[in-house]
Amino acid sequence: MRVSEGRVTVTVPEQPEAGKGADVFFNPVQELNRDITVAALRAYRERTPRVSTYLDATAASGIRGVRAAANDWETTLCDIDDDATALCEQNLERNDLAASVRRSDANVLMHSEAFDVVDVDPFGTPIPFADAAVQGTKHLLCVTATDTAPLCGAHFESGVRSYGAVPRNTEFHAEMGMRVLLSAMVRTAARYDIAARPILSHATKHYARTYLEFDHGAKVANDCIDELGYVHHCQHCLWRDHDYGLIADPPEDCPVCDKHLQTAGPIWLGRTCDPGFVDAVTEHVTEEMGTADEAKELLATLGAEIDTPTHYDQHRLCKRWGRGAEAMDEFIEKLSDAGYAASRTHYGGTTFKTDADVVEIRESTAE
Ligand code: SAM
Repeated sequence: MRVSEGRVTVTVPEQPEAGKGADVFFNPVQELNRDITVAALRAYRERTPRVSTYLDATAASGIRGVRAAANDWETTLCDIDDDATALCEQNLERNDLAASVRRSDANVLMHSEAFDVVDVDPFGTPIPFADAAVQGTKHLLCVTATDTAPLCGAHFESGVRSYGAVPRNTEFHAEMGMRVLLSAMVRTAARYDIAARPILSHATKHYARTYLEFDHGAKVANDCIDELGYVHHCQHCLWRDHDYGLIADPPEDCPVCDKHLQTAGPIWLGRTCDPGFVDAVTEHVTEEMGTADEAKELLATLGAEIDTPTHYDQHRLCKRWGRGAEAMDEFIEKLSDAGYAASRTHYGGTTFKTDADVVEIRESTAE
Protein backbone atom coordinates (compact mmCIF):
# COMPACT_ATOMS: atom_id res chain seq x y z
CA MET A 1 0.00 0.00 0.00
CA ARG A 2 1.03 3.59 -0.54
CA VAL A 3 1.56 5.92 2.36
CA SER A 4 2.15 9.66 2.16
CA GLU A 5 3.86 11.39 5.05
CA GLY A 6 5.27 14.90 4.98
CA ARG A 7 6.70 15.51 1.54
CA VAL A 8 7.15 11.84 0.54
CA THR A 9 5.09 8.88 -0.64
CA VAL A 10 6.38 5.38 0.07
CA THR A 11 5.20 1.84 -0.54
CA VAL A 12 4.88 -0.40 2.51
CA PRO A 13 3.49 -3.94 2.84
CA GLU A 14 -0.06 -4.33 4.17
CA GLN A 15 0.28 -4.93 7.92
CA PRO A 16 -2.62 -7.29 8.67
CA GLU A 17 -1.81 -7.85 12.35
CA ALA A 18 -0.93 -4.39 13.64
CA GLY A 19 2.65 -4.48 12.47
CA LYS A 20 3.36 -8.17 13.25
CA GLY A 21 4.48 -10.72 10.62
CA ALA A 22 7.27 -11.56 8.25
CA ASP A 23 6.88 -8.51 5.99
CA VAL A 24 8.87 -5.33 6.27
CA PHE A 25 7.61 -3.45 9.30
CA PHE A 26 5.52 -0.29 9.09
CA ASN A 27 3.47 1.30 11.87
CA PRO A 28 1.18 4.18 10.84
CA VAL A 29 0.74 5.13 14.50
CA GLN A 30 4.38 6.29 14.55
CA GLU A 31 3.62 9.14 12.15
CA LEU A 32 3.66 11.59 15.09
CA ASN A 33 7.09 10.27 16.12
CA ARG A 34 8.34 10.72 12.54
CA ASP A 35 6.79 14.18 12.09
CA ILE A 36 8.49 15.37 15.28
CA THR A 37 11.74 13.74 14.09
CA VAL A 38 11.65 15.78 10.87
CA ALA A 39 10.89 19.00 12.79
CA ALA A 40 13.68 18.17 15.26
CA LEU A 41 16.15 17.56 12.41
CA ARG A 42 15.28 20.95 10.91
CA ALA A 43 15.64 22.67 14.30
CA TYR A 44 18.88 20.84 15.09
CA ARG A 45 20.47 21.98 11.83
CA GLU A 46 19.81 25.58 12.90
CA ARG A 47 21.21 24.89 16.38
CA THR A 48 24.36 23.17 15.01
CA PRO A 49 24.78 24.42 11.42
CA ARG A 50 27.77 22.20 10.59
CA VAL A 51 25.74 18.96 10.77
CA SER A 52 24.83 17.23 7.51
CA THR A 53 24.83 13.40 7.87
CA TYR A 54 21.92 11.32 9.23
CA LEU A 55 21.80 7.57 9.82
CA ASP A 56 18.43 5.80 9.97
CA ALA A 57 20.00 2.75 11.66
CA THR A 58 16.93 0.48 11.73
CA ALA A 59 15.16 1.70 8.62
CA ALA A 60 12.52 -0.99 7.76
CA SER A 61 10.57 0.61 4.84
CA GLY A 62 12.92 3.59 5.04
CA ILE A 63 10.14 6.08 5.63
CA ARG A 64 12.09 7.95 8.30
CA GLY A 65 15.32 8.12 6.28
CA VAL A 66 13.45 8.99 3.08
CA ARG A 67 11.84 11.90 4.90
CA ALA A 68 15.27 13.01 6.18
CA ALA A 69 16.66 12.84 2.63
CA ALA A 70 13.70 14.92 1.40
CA ASN A 71 14.83 17.51 3.97
CA ASP A 72 18.30 17.67 2.43
CA TRP A 73 20.11 15.44 4.93
CA GLU A 74 22.96 13.37 3.54
CA THR A 75 21.22 10.17 4.56
CA THR A 76 22.24 6.55 5.15
CA LEU A 77 19.53 3.92 5.63
CA CYS A 78 20.54 0.66 7.30
CA ASP A 79 18.63 -2.54 8.01
CA ILE A 80 19.71 -6.10 8.67
CA ASP A 81 16.89 -7.45 6.49
CA ASP A 82 17.27 -7.84 2.68
CA ASP A 83 13.61 -7.13 1.96
CA ALA A 84 13.79 -3.95 4.03
CA THR A 85 16.83 -2.55 2.24
CA ALA A 86 15.31 -3.44 -1.16
CA LEU A 87 12.20 -1.49 -0.15
CA CYS A 88 14.34 1.43 1.06
CA GLU A 89 15.95 1.58 -2.42
CA GLN A 90 12.52 1.55 -4.10
CA ASN A 91 11.15 4.22 -1.81
CA LEU A 92 14.10 6.52 -2.41
CA GLU A 93 13.72 6.04 -6.17
CA ARG A 94 9.95 6.65 -6.03
CA ASN A 95 10.69 10.05 -4.47
CA ASP A 96 13.60 10.80 -6.77
CA LEU A 97 15.97 11.03 -3.80
CA ALA A 98 19.55 9.86 -3.39
CA ALA A 99 20.86 8.19 -0.22
CA SER A 100 23.17 5.37 0.78
CA VAL A 101 21.43 2.07 1.64
CA ARG A 102 23.33 -0.55 3.68
CA ARG A 103 22.23 -4.11 4.38
CA SER A 104 24.11 -4.56 7.63
CA ASP A 105 23.86 -5.12 11.32
CA ALA A 106 23.53 -1.53 12.55
CA ASN A 107 25.97 -2.28 15.35
CA VAL A 108 28.69 -3.17 12.83
CA LEU A 109 28.00 -0.01 10.81
CA MET A 110 27.91 2.30 13.84
CA HIS A 111 31.15 0.84 15.21
CA SER A 112 32.93 1.54 11.92
CA GLU A 113 31.44 4.89 10.78
CA ALA A 114 30.22 7.99 12.56
CA PHE A 115 27.32 10.23 11.54
CA ASP A 116 26.29 13.68 12.77
CA VAL A 117 22.85 12.39 13.73
CA VAL A 118 21.97 8.76 14.42
CA ASP A 119 18.41 7.47 14.78
CA VAL A 120 17.78 4.12 16.48
CA ASP A 121 14.14 3.06 16.24
CA PRO A 122 14.21 -0.69 16.90
CA PHE A 123 11.72 -3.35 17.98
CA GLY A 124 11.46 -3.08 21.79
CA THR A 125 14.53 -1.98 23.70
CA PRO A 126 17.30 0.13 22.10
CA ILE A 127 19.88 -1.16 24.60
CA PRO A 128 21.44 -3.79 22.24
CA PHE A 129 22.34 -0.81 20.00
CA ALA A 130 23.35 1.64 22.73
CA ASP A 131 27.16 1.19 22.80
CA ALA A 132 27.52 1.20 19.01
CA ALA A 133 25.10 4.15 18.68
CA VAL A 134 27.20 6.20 21.11
CA GLN A 135 30.31 5.33 19.09
CA GLY A 136 28.63 6.15 15.78
CA THR A 137 27.12 9.51 16.79
CA LYS A 138 28.96 12.82 16.49
CA HIS A 139 26.28 15.23 17.72
CA LEU A 140 22.70 13.99 18.20
CA LEU A 141 21.39 10.53 19.04
CA CYS A 142 17.65 9.93 18.59
CA VAL A 143 16.29 6.86 20.37
CA THR A 144 12.89 5.16 20.53
CA ALA A 145 12.03 2.48 23.12
CA THR A 146 8.78 0.52 22.82
CA ASP A 147 9.39 -1.91 25.71
CA THR A 148 7.34 0.18 28.10
CA ALA A 149 6.50 -2.68 30.52
CA PRO A 150 10.18 -3.35 31.46
CA LEU A 151 10.96 0.37 31.48
CA CYS A 152 8.22 1.31 33.92
CA GLY A 153 8.68 -1.66 36.24
CA ALA A 154 5.62 -3.69 35.18
CA HIS A 155 8.07 -6.39 33.97
CA PHE A 156 10.52 -5.81 36.80
CA GLU A 157 13.33 -8.34 36.15
CA SER A 158 13.41 -7.57 32.44
CA GLY A 159 13.72 -3.85 33.24
CA VAL A 160 16.56 -4.47 35.69
CA ARG A 161 18.42 -6.66 33.18
CA SER A 162 18.03 -4.36 30.20
CA TYR A 163 18.59 -1.01 31.84
CA GLY A 164 20.85 -1.73 34.85
CA ALA A 165 18.46 0.17 37.09
CA VAL A 166 15.59 -0.64 39.43
CA PRO A 167 12.32 0.53 37.85
CA ARG A 168 9.17 0.77 39.99
CA ASN A 169 5.60 0.45 38.86
CA THR A 170 4.25 3.78 40.10
CA GLU A 171 1.33 5.95 39.00
CA PHE A 172 3.84 8.08 37.05
CA HIS A 173 4.84 4.99 35.03
CA ALA A 174 5.49 6.64 31.66
CA GLU A 175 7.84 9.18 33.26
CA MET A 176 9.53 6.39 35.25
CA GLY A 177 10.15 4.61 31.93
CA MET A 178 11.54 7.73 30.27
CA ARG A 179 13.92 8.40 33.16
CA VAL A 180 15.09 4.77 33.32
CA LEU A 181 15.84 4.91 29.57
CA LEU A 182 17.68 8.24 29.95
CA SER A 183 19.71 6.90 32.87
CA ALA A 184 20.89 3.93 30.80
CA MET A 185 21.78 6.10 27.79
CA VAL A 186 23.59 8.69 29.95
CA ARG A 187 25.61 5.94 31.70
CA THR A 188 26.44 4.29 28.37
CA ALA A 189 27.72 7.58 26.90
CA ALA A 190 29.65 8.43 30.08
CA ARG A 191 31.71 5.24 29.67
CA TYR A 192 33.19 6.91 26.57
CA ASP A 193 33.67 10.33 28.28
CA ILE A 194 30.61 11.72 26.53
CA ALA A 195 27.85 13.81 28.11
CA ALA A 196 24.52 12.83 26.53
CA ARG A 197 21.91 15.46 27.45
CA PRO A 198 18.26 15.10 26.45
CA ILE A 199 17.08 18.18 24.56
CA LEU A 200 13.67 16.73 23.65
CA SER A 201 11.88 13.71 25.13
CA HIS A 202 8.29 12.52 25.01
CA ALA A 203 6.39 9.46 26.17
CA THR A 204 3.54 8.88 23.76
CA LYS A 205 1.15 5.92 23.50
CA HIS A 206 3.35 2.79 23.62
CA TYR A 207 6.81 4.31 23.37
CA ALA A 208 9.40 6.68 24.80
CA ARG A 209 11.40 8.86 22.43
CA THR A 210 14.40 11.03 23.25
CA TYR A 211 16.94 13.23 21.44
CA LEU A 212 20.34 13.29 23.17
CA GLU A 213 22.86 16.00 22.37
CA PHE A 214 26.50 14.94 22.79
CA ASP A 215 29.31 16.90 24.37
CA HIS A 216 32.73 15.27 24.62
CA GLY A 217 34.93 15.30 27.73
CA ALA A 218 35.35 13.59 31.10
CA LYS A 219 34.28 16.69 33.07
CA VAL A 220 30.97 17.15 31.22
CA ALA A 221 30.30 13.41 31.39
CA ASN A 222 30.82 13.59 35.17
CA ASP A 223 28.34 16.48 35.32
CA CYS A 224 25.76 14.26 33.60
CA ILE A 225 26.37 11.40 36.03
CA ASP A 226 25.73 13.90 38.85
CA GLU A 227 22.15 14.22 37.58
CA LEU A 228 21.37 10.56 38.25
CA GLY A 229 19.75 9.45 41.48
CA TYR A 230 16.81 7.79 43.21
CA VAL A 231 13.10 8.42 43.63
CA HIS A 232 11.43 7.28 46.85
CA HIS A 233 7.72 6.74 46.52
CA CYS A 234 4.82 5.87 48.81
CA GLN A 235 2.21 3.71 47.09
CA HIS A 236 -0.23 4.50 49.89
CA CYS A 237 -0.42 8.32 50.14
CA LEU A 238 1.54 9.00 46.88
CA TRP A 239 4.21 11.10 48.64
CA ARG A 240 7.57 11.02 46.87
CA ASP A 241 11.03 12.57 47.07
CA HIS A 242 14.34 12.21 45.21
CA ASP A 243 18.08 12.11 46.04
CA TYR A 244 21.05 12.67 43.75
CA GLY A 245 23.98 10.23 43.66
CA LEU A 246 24.74 6.65 42.72
CA ILE A 247 24.75 5.28 46.26
CA ALA A 248 21.18 4.65 47.35
CA ASP A 249 20.29 5.72 50.87
CA PRO A 250 16.52 5.34 50.88
CA PRO A 251 14.38 6.37 53.82
CA GLU A 252 12.48 3.29 55.04
CA ASP A 253 9.11 4.79 55.80
CA CYS A 254 6.93 7.51 54.38
CA PRO A 255 7.23 10.70 56.49
CA VAL A 256 3.53 11.40 55.91
CA CYS A 257 1.78 8.04 56.53
CA ASP A 258 4.57 5.78 57.91
CA LYS A 259 3.99 3.13 55.22
CA HIS A 260 6.95 1.41 53.51
CA LEU A 261 8.56 3.39 50.67
CA GLN A 262 9.61 2.02 47.29
CA THR A 263 12.84 3.29 45.74
CA ALA A 264 13.66 3.37 42.01
CA GLY A 265 17.00 4.15 40.39
CA PRO A 266 19.48 5.18 39.38
CA ILE A 267 17.19 7.21 37.11
CA TRP A 268 17.82 10.48 35.27
CA LEU A 269 16.67 13.33 37.52
CA GLY A 270 17.69 16.18 35.22
CA ARG A 271 15.76 18.04 32.54
CA THR A 272 14.23 15.83 29.84
CA CYS A 273 13.86 18.74 27.38
CA ASP A 274 15.59 22.00 26.59
CA PRO A 275 12.65 24.45 26.36
CA GLY A 276 14.52 26.56 23.78
CA PHE A 277 14.92 23.52 21.53
CA VAL A 278 11.27 22.55 22.04
CA ASP A 279 10.26 26.03 20.81
CA ALA A 280 12.56 25.70 17.80
CA VAL A 281 11.12 22.27 16.94
CA THR A 282 7.60 23.73 17.17
CA GLU A 283 8.56 26.38 14.61
CA HIS A 284 9.48 23.57 12.22
CA VAL A 285 6.23 21.61 12.44
CA THR A 286 4.71 22.42 9.08
CA GLU A 287 1.29 21.98 7.56
CA GLU A 288 2.18 19.10 5.21
CA MET A 289 2.69 16.93 8.32
CA GLY A 290 -0.29 14.67 8.98
CA THR A 291 -0.02 15.09 12.75
CA ALA A 292 0.85 18.82 12.76
CA ASP A 293 -1.90 19.80 15.21
CA GLU A 294 -1.14 16.93 17.58
CA ALA A 295 2.60 17.59 17.36
CA LYS A 296 2.16 21.30 18.13
CA GLU A 297 -0.10 20.55 21.08
CA LEU A 298 2.37 17.99 22.46
CA LEU A 299 5.32 20.34 22.02
CA ALA A 300 3.44 23.24 23.66
CA THR A 301 2.75 21.08 26.72
CA LEU A 302 6.37 19.84 26.80
CA GLY A 303 7.72 23.38 26.58
CA ALA A 304 5.60 24.52 29.54
CA GLU A 305 6.25 21.47 31.76
CA ILE A 306 8.06 22.48 34.93
CA ASP A 307 11.29 20.76 35.76
CA THR A 308 10.58 18.21 38.52
CA PRO A 309 11.44 14.51 38.25
CA THR A 310 7.95 13.07 38.77
CA HIS A 311 4.38 14.09 38.02
CA TYR A 312 1.05 13.55 39.81
CA ASP A 313 -2.37 12.57 38.55
CA GLN A 314 -5.14 14.74 39.97
CA HIS A 315 -7.75 11.97 39.69
CA ARG A 316 -5.60 9.48 41.63
CA LEU A 317 -4.88 11.99 44.36
CA CYS A 318 -8.52 13.02 44.69
CA LYS A 319 -9.59 9.38 44.86
CA ARG A 320 -7.13 8.79 47.75
CA TRP A 321 -8.43 11.90 49.50
CA GLY A 322 -12.08 10.92 48.97
CA ARG A 323 -13.00 14.08 47.15
CA GLY A 324 -14.18 14.91 43.66
CA ALA A 325 -11.76 15.94 40.90
CA GLU A 326 -12.04 19.38 39.33
CA ALA A 327 -11.10 21.07 36.06
CA MET A 328 -7.33 20.95 35.57
CA ASP A 329 -6.97 24.69 34.92
CA GLU A 330 -8.69 25.53 38.22
CA PHE A 331 -6.67 22.94 40.10
CA ILE A 332 -3.36 24.28 38.75
CA GLU A 333 -4.46 27.86 39.40
CA LYS A 334 -5.05 27.02 43.06
CA LEU A 335 -1.48 25.68 43.34
CA SER A 336 -0.10 28.79 41.64
CA ASP A 337 -2.19 31.09 43.86
CA ALA A 338 -0.73 29.29 46.88
CA GLY A 339 2.77 30.20 45.63
CA TYR A 340 3.84 26.87 44.10
CA ALA A 341 5.19 26.28 40.60
CA ALA A 342 2.71 24.09 38.71
CA SER A 343 2.03 22.97 35.14
CA ARG A 344 0.16 20.36 33.17
CA THR A 345 2.27 17.55 31.68
CA HIS A 346 2.20 15.64 28.41
CA TYR A 347 1.83 12.32 30.29
CA GLY A 348 -1.97 12.60 30.44
CA GLY A 349 -4.89 15.03 30.57
CA THR A 350 -5.22 14.86 34.38
CA THR A 351 -1.48 14.95 35.17
CA PHE A 352 0.49 17.86 36.58
CA LYS A 353 3.89 18.78 37.98
CA THR A 354 4.51 20.98 40.96
CA ASP A 355 7.16 21.78 43.54
CA ALA A 356 4.55 21.31 46.30
CA ASP A 357 4.61 17.99 48.15
CA VAL A 358 1.55 15.80 48.46
CA VAL A 359 0.43 17.39 51.76
CA GLU A 360 0.87 20.90 50.37
CA ILE A 361 -1.05 19.93 47.22
CA ARG A 362 -3.95 18.63 49.29
CA GLU A 363 -4.10 21.71 51.50
CA SER A 364 -3.69 24.29 48.77
CA THR A 365 -6.33 22.78 46.48
CA ALA A 366 -8.99 22.11 49.15
CA GLU A 367 -12.31 23.91 48.57
N1 SAM B 1 12.26 3.14 11.79
C1 SAM B 1 11.18 2.43 11.13
C2 SAM B 1 9.98 3.34 10.91
O1 SAM B 1 9.98 4.51 11.34
O2 SAM B 1 9.01 2.88 10.27
C3 SAM B 1 10.77 1.21 11.92
C4 SAM B 1 11.88 0.29 12.28
S1 SAM B 1 11.37 -1.29 12.84
C5 SAM B 1 10.62 -0.94 14.38
C6 SAM B 1 12.87 -2.06 13.29
C7 SAM B 1 13.75 -2.50 12.14
O3 SAM B 1 15.02 -2.85 12.69
C8 SAM B 1 13.28 -3.73 11.38
O4 SAM B 1 13.13 -3.43 10.02
C9 SAM B 1 14.41 -4.77 11.57
O5 SAM B 1 14.69 -5.55 10.41
C10 SAM B 1 15.57 -3.86 11.89
N2 SAM B 1 16.67 -4.51 12.64
C11 SAM B 1 16.57 -5.42 13.64
N3 SAM B 1 17.80 -5.73 14.09
C12 SAM B 1 18.68 -4.99 13.37
C13 SAM B 1 20.10 -4.85 13.39
N4 SAM B 1 20.86 -5.54 14.24
N5 SAM B 1 20.67 -3.97 12.53
C14 SAM B 1 19.91 -3.26 11.66
N6 SAM B 1 18.56 -3.36 11.60
C15 SAM B 1 17.95 -4.20 12.45
